[in-house]
Amino acid sequence: MTSLERYAVVSCHVEQPLDDAVWAAFERLLERRPAGFVVTPFLRPPAAGEDEELWLERARRAAQLAPLGHHTHWGGPTQARPAGAVDAAEVVRGEIEWLRARDLAPRWFCGGGWYLDEPVAETLAAFDYVDCSATTFRQSYLDDAAPRLQLAGPRRVRLPSGASMLELPATHSLGMLGRDLLRLHGFVHLHFHDWELVDRRRALALHTVLRALRLRRKPLTIDQLTDRAANAPEIDWPRGLET
Ligand SMILES: [Zn+2]
Repeated sequence: MTSLERYAVVSCHVEQPLDDAVWAAFERLLERRPAGFVVTPFLRPPAAGEDEELWLERARRAAQLAPLGHHTHWGGPTQARPAGAVDAAEVVRGEIEWLRARDLAPRWFCGGGWYLDEPVAETLAAFDYVDCSATTFRQSYLDDAAPRLQLAGPRRVRLPSGASMLELPATHSLGMLGRDLLRLHGFVHLHFHDWELVDRRRALALHTVLRALRLRRKPLTIDQLTDRAANAPEIDWPRGLET
């Protein structure tokens, strides 16, 4: 793999694309490319009862401005991880088919609440998605048995079906990167949420952190990262709990 040590990507979980204030702030960010970063928009498709036409208009705008990503919340706008008897893989398949039927073909995926299980991974691989649901860090709010994937960096994950899925884990939240800036190691994949942009303190922190990050790492777009990670180390699912 081409060394990624000196590079960074930034992605956003776009959870409230139908909120006018949140969307306006996010669209402005995509247009401005702060500190040279083309932010990857992981868009949450509309839940039942949400305005599909407005959503599609905004998704098409996002796709004009950056490589488009897909974010699934299995339980609706405020419930990220699957709960109850939901078939997580079927939900993802349904969303991908809904998107493709409307001429939108996001290529990058991030599961809500960092959820990833084997059927979801197989579904993503079948649609030729690149997954970003893994993290290099552990979430303190998830218990040990919670389905998720922890990897030390980009990996090609060999699934039980024989399919291969490229995984580009997130390395930092906004708060984590703020704390780590002076002792950064290696590749950075920063993630944040669209609603953070309408919180003045968080929005300011994002811009400050991006400027500081730019002094330490070169910006990559997610498709550039995908190309550079094409020969990342291979691992077998589900042995992928690297700490
Ligand atoms: Zn989310």
